[in-house]
Amino acid sequence: MLDGYNREIQYLRVSITDRCDLRCRYCMPPAGVPTLQHEEILSYEEIIRLARIFSTLGIKKIRLTGGEPLVRKGVPQLVRQLKAIPGVQSVVMTSNGVLLGEYLPELVEAGLDGVNISLDAIDGEVFYQICRRDCLHQVLRSIDMALAYGLPLKLNCVPNQWNQRQIVPLTRYAGERNIPLRFIELMPIGEGQNVEGLSESQVTALITAELGQPVLAQDNNPADKCRYYLVPGGARIGFISALSHKFCHSCDRIRLTANGFLKTCLQYDLGIDLKPLLQESDETIKQGIMQAIQSKPQGHHFGLSQEQSDETKKMSQIGG
Ligand code: SAM
Ligand code: SF4
Repeated sequence: MLDGYNREIQYLRVSITDRCDLRCRYCMPPAGVPTLQHEEILSYEEIIRLARIFSTLGIKKIRLTGGEPLVRKGVPQLVRQLKAIPGVQSVVMTSNGVLLGEYLPELVEAGLDGVNISLDAIDGEVFYQICRRDCLHQVLRSIDMALAYGLPLKLNCVPNQWNQRQIVPLTRYAGERNIPLRFIELMPIGEGQNVEGLSESQVTALITAELGQPVLAQDNNPADKCRYYLVPGGARIGFISALSHKFCHSCDRIRLTANGFLKTCLQYDLGIDLKPLLQESDETIKQGIMQAIQSKPQGHHFGLSQEQSDETKKMSQIGG
């Protein structure tokens, strides 16, 4: 459906848990965050019911996220059921990759269409400094497995004060394996306010100095939030720069938090709490969703003044 600014909303990000097995500095404090109770979290049945209603409103793509989606049991079964919903063309996932290898065969068998794996370093010490857990080997193994299974794969890296010396090794690593590597600009949400990000031009300068100047790819889709470049030697890198290259005018996404709040913009806590509405009919839920989408804000205002409706949750509670 169209929102109040004529944007076609077709992409739903579903956070299925606020728990995580890593503690990335820009996302979670070292001790984690108070997590939701089991009864507060949407059950898989509730997620599937909502996904059916969303699909009747034009949602075509669903991304499972978290926290870390794979710390919740039964994800392959959820994928299978989401894939069976008429109108849902693609079910994908964003994962930190730690548990992915373990579940990959089942996920592929269930019909998962692709995975984005977050990878901020390929050096174990730097990985530990950023994610505060010693899990790099598991993540790299998951990447190898995803490649072996032929699952469409992208890598996400948040360039920051801790991993600037990893930008070039990561680019080489991704290039050698033919995996697109996307640099996500650090957002000043939650813990992100305590970490210094690297700008797109800083990342480009680091790559240019060692590998040569990246060239804008010819196949960029203007509606895509990611702009891709080709690096001499073969790597394909992309930039998702929500702050410095705002893409709100083409935003086609909404977010469902683990406890059932439908967020219409990353930066605002605006939307509708669908959890209490689950007692009502599908039609009532649909009306509530339509009203919320109609009121989706025009765009974020990161870097400008604070507003009363600004989001106070951490990224792990939103799902990125
Ligand atoms: N745990 C999974 C993962 O890390 O891929 C999924 C959830 S995580 C919140 C989704 C994405 O948000 C990750 O790629 C992560 O790097 C990114 N992220 C978290 N905090 C961020 C921040 N402050 N700024 C930009 N990206 C952030
Ligand atoms: Fe966990 Fe993902 Fe947040 Fe890292 S970015 S702490 S892996 S939810």
